[in-house]
Amino acid sequence: FIQVRELYKDFKLGKEDIHILKGINLDIEQGEMVALLGPSGSGKSTFLNVLGGLVPPTSGEILIRDYQISEMTENELCLFRREHLGFIFQSYNLISTMTAMENVALALTFAGVKKEIRKERAIEALEVVGLVDRMGHKPSELSGGQQQRVSIARALVNHPEIILADEPTGNLDSKTSADIMEMIYRLNREENQTFVIVTHDPDTTKYCTKVIHMQDGLIESEVSQ
Ligand code: ATP
Ligand code: MG
Repeated sequence: FIQVRELYKDFKLGKEDIHILKGINLDIEQGEMVALLGPSGSGKSTFLNVLGGLVPPTSGEILIRDYQISEMTENELCLFRREHLGFIFQSYNLISTMTAMENVALALTFAGVKKEIRKERAIEALEVVGLVDRMGHKPSELSGGQQQRVSIARALVNHPEIILADEPTGNLDSKTSADIMEMIYRLNREENQTFVIVTHDPDTTKYCTKVIHMQDGLIESEVSQ
């Protein structure tokens, strides 16, 4: 479903090339829930961003279904991301001047969904994350856990096949983290969505079908469970 072959990523720092991803190979089946662990600086976020087409690789191949992500133009990537991928970030990345509902609906605007049905679909997604009663609130009027649930609703509203999450519970207390992970797990089971989740939290891994440890730009171990 997802195939990564000999993936390399260098960043330019002044005149120097620093090697961040050093030849990653990975296969992920549809419906898997993959945890990506590893020390700070090992390249987890970089890998996730390259996988999601947000950052171009230096070399190597990424195949999602029959799509060669690594060979797409910026325009093709944009369309691909909107149709197939959802992103959840640790810092939520919500728009502060918009309500919860408007933040979620914005993802539908980008996806070209007609105006008349956007609100309805956004409310459906907020129902899934249990936040309909807060749909008129702006991010500053929501708790961290609630903001993260809005960002999850935004990632889910288009029913993407693949969701990439970078420390989705990183800023939350353990009870809220567990609630969010339960919700992610339920979606994974109900909709057969594929999740790749970067995490520092060992509790998160118990929901996963595969646990990957990264170390210094490489996959050090990969355990299916
Ligand atoms: P953390 O657990 O702290 O989030 P991480 O495993 O997600 O760490 P990355 O964010 O992927 O780590 O960063 C890996 C390395 O790549 C770091 O040393 C970082 O400084 C470097 N790096 C990341 N992005 C860039 C960039 N745009 N330019 C230069 N170096 C970068
Ligand atoms: Mg990171």
